[in-house]
Amino acid sequence: MTSDPLPTRLPETDRTRHRRLREQGSLERADLDAILDAGFVCHLGVVVDGRPLVVPTVYGRDERQLYVHGSVASRSLAGGLPVCVTVTHVDGLVLARSVFEHGVNYRSAVIHGDARRVTDPDEKLEGLRRLTDHATPGQWSYARRPDRRELAATTLLALSLEEVSVKIRTGAPDDGDGPDAALGLWAGVLPLTRAWGAPVPDPALPPGTAVPEHIARRAGTRQG
Ligand SMILES: Cc1cc2nc3c(=O)[nH]c(=O)nc-3n(C[C@H](O)[C@H](O)[C@H](O)COP(=O)(O)OP(=O)(O)OC[C@H]3O[C@@H](n4cnc5c(N)ncnc54)[C@H](O)[C@@H]3O)c2cc1C
Repeated sequence: MTSDPLPTRLPETDRTRHRRLREQGSLERADLDAILDAGFVCHLGVVVDGRPLVVPTVYGRDERQLYVHGSVASRSLAGGLPVCVTVTHVDGLVLARSVFEHGVNYRSAVIHGDARRVTDPDEKLEGLRRLTDHATPGQWSYARRPDRRELAATTLLALSLEEVSVKIRTGAPDDGDGPDAALGLWAGVLPLTRAWGAPVPDPALPPGTAVPEHIARRAGTRQG
């Protein structure tokens, strides 16, 4: 794989070109990076036995690839198949005067590609490290790492971040300057935020087991 610097603009392909709500599209790689880094759950879409299957799953990434993992028995992780992965963050409800203009403020990314099953042991371990640390930075160094049997039971797929589209909606409803503005109804945005709570210790822990710093410090911080 090339190590050339990535272009700051995302290439547009026939698949990634927005056809509707085009004004919400972004071709900035920085927007893609921010969306991927703000989340850790994606929806993986794949055709299994001729039918679409979309499963939520955690992901990690490096600069050029997204990683997803799961059981070797998982049919959605067969590898070598065309897939479509979405990452979505909901930032608020857009409550317009008319039902028709209601919407959602959001940031989302759609990744198209062929998922590659990672078989190289070093790359597999590195992909799993990225996946683990993406959701919980510092956890790969803290927790016991997978042994040979656990690695054999785990499938890791890599998906190139080459063919990606980004959409972002921000701001007020769109009917503030239309005829419905005269209706006298309240309209606006109901923001939505998520935050990490205080860590809840496993009741099986010996009393006095300290919460590791990399976990404790996230309490109260924003997620997404
Ligand atoms: C939380 C949430 C709620 C939404 N609710 C609605 C709704 O109720 N009704 C509605 O019409 N739309 C909704 N949208 C927008 C929706 O995701 C689509 O962008 C829109 O419906 C256009 O779909 P399309 O099939 O015409 O896309 P097209 O423009 O035909 O899609 C072409 C290509 O654009 C890209 N693309 C499309 N949508 C997105 C996206 N959201 N993010 C990144 N890339 C994208 C894909 O690569 C796709 O292959 C919502 C989005 C989010 C994130």
